[in-house]
Amino acid sequence: MPEGSPIHGGQRIRDSFNKVLSTMPSDGKTSFFGEDMPSLEALLIGGGFEKYRARQIWQNVYLRKVFEPAKMTSLPLALREFLDKKFEFTSGKLVGDRRSADDTGKFLFELSDGRYVECVILEAPDESGGTRKTLCLSTQVGCAQGCKFCASTMRGFKRNLTYSEILSQALSFVDSVSGKFLFENIVVMGMGEPLANFDNVMMALKILNDADRFNFGARRITLSTCGLADKILQIARMDFPFRLAVSLHGATDEVRSRIMPVNKRFPLEKLVPAIGEFSKNCGRMTTLEFILIEGVNDTPEQARALAKIAKKLHAHVNLIPYNTVSGLEWRRSPLKNRLAFAKILKDAKVSCTLRREKGSDIDAACGQLALKSSK
Ligand code: SAH
Repeated sequence: MPEGSPIHGGQRIRDSFNKVLSTMPSDGKTSFFGEDMPSLEALLIGGGFEKYRARQIWQNVYLRKVFEPAKMTSLPLALREFLDKKFEFTSGKLVGDRRSADDTGKFLFELSDGRYVECVILEAPDESGGTRKTLCLSTQVGCAQGCKFCASTMRGFKRNLTYSEILSQALSFVDSVSGKFLFENIVVMGMGEPLANFDNVMMALKILNDADRFNFGARRITLSTCGLADKILQIARMDFPFRLAVSLHGATDEVRSRIMPVNKRFPLEKLVPAIGEFSKNCGRMTTLEFILIEGVNDTPEQARALAKIAKKLHAHVNLIPYNTVSGLEWRRSPLKNRLAFAKILKDAKVSCTLRREKGSDIDAACGQLALKSSK
């Protein structure tokens, strides 16, 4: 499928997510992004405005990326006021920005109930000598999955983000002059387990991807999961070919269960076939993420077991040095173990990268998000 081709027309996005559409902001406004063209037209006609205004509003929002009715200057004042009363466009706001020495930007995003999540912009050189920015989105305040090495899980789970809050993180990074997104890729790898907040996450991603809306290519979106196999099977059937990354971190049940409680519910014999199903249906190479923790999963036996799984799935392996979390006992695997681990995979002809971590000086690295600031 070509980049940005329609997965769901406006109508079908609304139909398939009726459940989440009932989530109303506290001030009685509804999210503008729950509207499709027919419902918007009907609403305008009911309010005494011309039908064609719906298209003007649509262009303001989705092409020019203007999210404040007051700034939609092509509309009459009465209509701008009507929109302002009826709709919430973005929910939550960016409140902080720190720059890391390696060009990782960590932003605090304040939600309407005063809680915080974080979003991170990672900047990396691209093949043509330029830079490529990737936005990392959060999907929950806290996390219920209880991965033993992860900071996001330490204060437990607080709540799911609404689709509007997930989307709003991305809509906060728009160039006000050109109306272009300030990032080229999205990774759903911030705080929370995206597949445990399924409807809201899928709705937000579809609004971003839909050709009649933001037209952000599915190939430029990667969703990372701790391995909810039932939900992976569900996305495999969705005809929405975003990229999938799975946090494996253990290549045998014994090691994986020690650090990831989710493995008891979905052991490897369930998880691996589900990933296979996704890759087959979506025609995409899945990434297996593997953080290397000293003395836990950085052994040659684990490397060989991981090579077997990766070959079976034709998956790419991303080896990530563990970022220490204060209060947790785990240590980063020493460089010589990491190199030896990568060599075993390479010798087995597994596609593999040994990542250098980014953002650890501002606590923006994976698994370090929002611990210090969330309520
Ligand atoms: N819940 C999703 C996405 C959020 S975590 C998931 O599990 O994939 C994003 C990635 O950071 C996951 O691979 C997670 O396992 C990893 N991670 C968590 N804590 C980490 C740490 N301290 N150091 C390095 N990676 C970590």
